[in-house]
Amino acid sequence: MYVVALTGGIGSGKSTVAELIAAHGITVIDADVIARHVVEPGMPALEQITHTFGHDLLQADGSLDRAALRQTAFSNDKQRLRLEAILHPLIRGEIMTSIAASQSPYTLLVIPLLFESGGYTFVDATIVVDCPEQLQLQRTTERDKVSESDARKIMASQWSRQDRLEAADHIIHNNDDINSLWEQVDTLHQQLLETAADTT
Ligand code: ADP
Repeated sequence: MYVVALTGGIGSGKSTVAELIAAHGITVIDADVIARHVVEPGMPALEQITHTFGHDLLQADGSLDRAALRQTAFSNDKQRLRLEAILHPLIRGEIMTSIAASQSPYTLLVIPLLFESGGYTFVDATIVVDCPEQLQLQRTTERDKVSESDARKIMASQWSRQDRLEAADHIIHNNDDINSLWEQVDTLHQQLLETAADTT
């Protein structure tokens, strides 16, 4: 299976691009959805997390208290690494299972922290959705109703625009209207179909 990873900073337009590619009949796997799924009640990750960090991280209904986990796990690097050691193998396992089940000519994996997390060696090509930081801020604050300073904090925790662009195999420039996005996605999709057909 030819696997294409789609990444980009917060508010750059990943979800919008993923929807346009899905409209071409391509299987889209969202790493964020999988990351939420693996910590649902009854999933092994939740048991490992409470075993490691304590049962205080559960809400009354048995589900994970995400805010409490964030506080605990991001309080220091050691805790964060322990959490990642639990979550990353499970998330990767689920991603591999979903890829194996995909029937489309190539598979799109939407993964916001592709470069930051590292280790996604099975990915054949990367797409970076790019837009100027000012537009990223504007789209994020409007969509998520967060303050500009909170949006800036999230952006500061991600790779810089320059580093992402240098690491990209393909770049989609999302600084214009949706029509411009459609055109770029169409062209790239045709290119990926050809490459996937030649490769697999
Ligand atoms: P991401 O998934 O990278 O965080 P989204 O695809 O959710 O970003 O886009 C962020 C916001 O900006 C959304 O509300 C989306 O509808 C809007 N948006 C994205 N691209 C465009 C565009 N080209 N023109 C206008 N609005 C856009």
